[in-house]
Amino acid sequence: MSLSPEHAHSMIDKALGLGVGASRRAYQVRALRFHYHPQRRGAATWVLDGLTFDVEAGEILGIVGPNGSGKTSLLKLLAKVLRPHAGDLALFGRDLGTMPHDEVARTVAFVPQESPQVFSVTVMETVLLGRYPHHQGAMWSAGFGWESAEDVLIAEQAMQATDLTHLASRSVMDLSGGERQRCMMARALAQAPQVLLLDEPTAFLDLQHQMEICAIVRRLKEERGLTVVLVSHDLNLASQYCDRILMLKAGELFRLGSPHDVIDVAVLRAVYGCDVLIDRHPESGMPRVTMPSYISTKTVRDHL
Ligand code: ADP
Repeated sequence: MSLSPEHAHSMIDKALGLGVGASRRAYQVRALRFHYHPQRRGAATWVLDGLTFDVEAGEILGIVGPNGSGKTSLLKLLAKVLRPHAGDLALFGRDLGTMPHDEVARTVAFVPQESPQVFSVTVMETVLLGRYPHHQGAMWSAGFGWESAEDVLIAEQAMQATDLTHLASRSVMDLSGGERQRCMMARALAQAPQVLLLDEPTAFLDLQHQMEICAIVRRLKEERGLTVVLVSHDLNLASQYCDRILMLKAGELFRLGSPHDVIDVAVLRAVYGCDVLIDRHPESGMPRVTMPSYISTKTVRDHL
C-alpha cells in the first residue's frame, strides 16, 4: 500500500480526533494532593498540596517553578503514571483514575525527561511503538508484525518532523541525549494523541532543534487543536510558546494566567527568591527574563 505524504498527514489528523473535545476541557483538576512516602502519624510531606485548575482543550499550558516544586510529579499524575492521594482528576470529562490504561494511551502521550534505554531497538521500531495502543488485542510478546502500512507511514512522518529519518535504523542506545529526546518526541507524535505531556522537551537540544521542537508543538496546536502541557525550567521558552503558565511553589499553585500575568518581577521574587530583569521580546512583545549584570554575593548567600 503506497500513500502520499498528504494522505499520511490527513491520517494523523484523523487519528488525532480533530474537533473531538475542541470546546471542552482537556483536564479538570480539583483539590489534588500527592506525596511519595507513606504518612507517618499524619505528618506527611505533600509534594502537591490542593491543586485546582483546568487545562483547556487546544491550549499550550506551561508548568514552571523552582527545582523540587512538584512539576514532574504533576505531569506524571496527568499521565496516570502516578495516582493522587486525594482530589479529582478528569480527562475530557471522565475520571482518569477509572479510565483503562490503553484508553489513556490512545488519548495522552507522555514524553518523560529521560528514558533509560535497556533494549537495543532501532529508532524506527521505537517510533512505531507509538502506534501500539491503537492495535487492541495485538500481542506484544510476538514482537513487531502487528503494524500496518498506515502505521509505518505515520511513523515515517513523525521521524521526518523530528529530523530523524537518517537515523531510522540506528539503535536507540547509540544516540546522543538530544537525538534520543527527539526520538521520544517522534514516538509521541506517532501515537497521535489528543494531549501531549512534555517534561523539559528542550533540555538536551541544541538551538536549532530547540526551535524545531517548539515549532512542531505550536503547529500541532494550531493545525490540529492538540492540547499540550509542558514542564520547563526555561521561563523564556514558557513565555514565548505557552498560552498560559502555571507557577508552582513548594507544591502549591502560586499563580496561573497568561505569560504577562505570571512572568512578573514580584512573582519571580516571591517564588525564586531573587530579583531578575524583565523586558519585552523584540518580536512578540512577550515578557523576557534576564539575570542582572551584577549579582551581589549577599543576595545569593541570603538564599543559600
Ligand atoms: P520538580 O519537577 O519541580 O523538580 P519533582 O516533582 O521532581 O519536582 O519533585 C518534587 C518533590 O518530590 C521533591 O522534593 C523530590 O525530591 C520528590 N520526589 C520526586 N520523585 C520522587 C520519588 N520517586 N520518590 C520520592 N520522592 C520524590
